[in-house]
Amino acid sequence: MRALASLVLLLSALAWASPGWMRWAAHDDEGFTRFVFELPVGTAYATERSGALVRVTLGLSVKAPETLRPGDAAVERVELQPSAEGAEVRLYLRPGATAKKPFVLEGPEGRFRLVIDVLQPEAGRAAPPPKPKPPAPVVVIDPGHGGPDPGTVGYVKEKVVTLDIALRVKKILEARGIEVVLTRDGDYDLAPKSVKDFDERKLLDLNQRAKMTNGNRNLFVSIHVNSAERPARGIEVYYLGKTLDPRTLALAIAENGGGELGEKLTQKAESTAEAALADLIAQGNLQFSARLADDILEQLIARTGTKNRGVHSAPFYVLRYARIPAVLVEVGFANHPTEGRLLARADYRQKLAEGIAAGILEMLGNGAYAAAGR
Ligand SMILES: [Zn+2]
Repeated sequence: MRALASLVLLLSALAWASPGWMRWAAHDDEGFTRFVFELPVGTAYATERSGALVRVTLGLSVKAPETLRPGDAAVERVELQPSAEGAEVRLYLRPGATAKKPFVLEGPEGRFRLVIDVLQPEAGRAAPPPKPKPPAPVVVIDPGHGGPDPGTVGYVKEKVVTLDIALRVKKILEARGIEVVLTRDGDYDLAPKSVKDFDERKLLDLNQRAKMTNGNRNLFVSIHVNSAERPARGIEVYYLGKTLDPRTLALAIAENGGGELGEKLTQKAESTAEAALADLIAQGNLQFSARLADDILEQLIARTGTKNRGVHSAPFYVLRYARIPAVLVEVGFANHPTEGRLLARADYRQKLAEGIAAGILEMLGNGAYAAAGR
């Protein structure tokens, strides 16, 4: 009972320590402005729409952007007032603008998002752009490491395995009419020949790969091989984010070049992940990335029957610039006595390639690429 009481105390302290916030963003192409209130789970709220006024009552004070004038086509001004319970927010709509029914989205852990979309007046709304025929999807496959960087070495060399799987994925996808771009198609890295220093090469190489995640591509899949000090086996798939797990962090540092360079690039990737939390578009893209990770992992486990080590987020530098759904697959452990030997076999690598390709096809089949990438 006492433990329960302190747990409740702790939980309310946590809720108190992380206050809510509100933000808005105009989506002029689609003719609306979106207001988002992110609040700890359990926070009381009420909304009331009457004419040109939307009143949001919150059982918690919220942080708001400095300027309370969105200056957009839907909302003239925003008022935020502390109240006895927490805060009251008033949205004053422009003539002709209408607020849609508020809805709730899941937020980051322990939080939820109350969303209110305000439609711009018809006259001020831009005509929707004509819908072009969707072009054939373009998928980027990134075989990790290469050239002077072998990656992890156990029963197999990582750079050899990743390239072989990537070439197999390419073949499968091309047979389905999908264009595939490989970041490398041989045993080399992407740094200029003149650069001799290993760390400098690695940085230039990772930057080059990371930049292939934007433009007219639809999906990005980086392929890697895992290793562990203690015997471990199985497959895990990552999308960009922060991690509290020490082993995951160590893996990210190793894949980001190892040593001092690895730590530096991991920090950079962490700050990108942090910034993404405040950016609704980046958030949306991360949700698509998580879905792609789920699709690929499910297909890989179905084909190999190996241990499912889950989908996680981690600060991988190569995913840092992604404006398209982007994931990093760790296909297995090079130093596991069984799995390491399996990775050396062409038939097993074919299964892995088929799993990755099937996950990609599933995601493309859902049409998610068009929404996320373009
Ligand atoms: Zn790797």
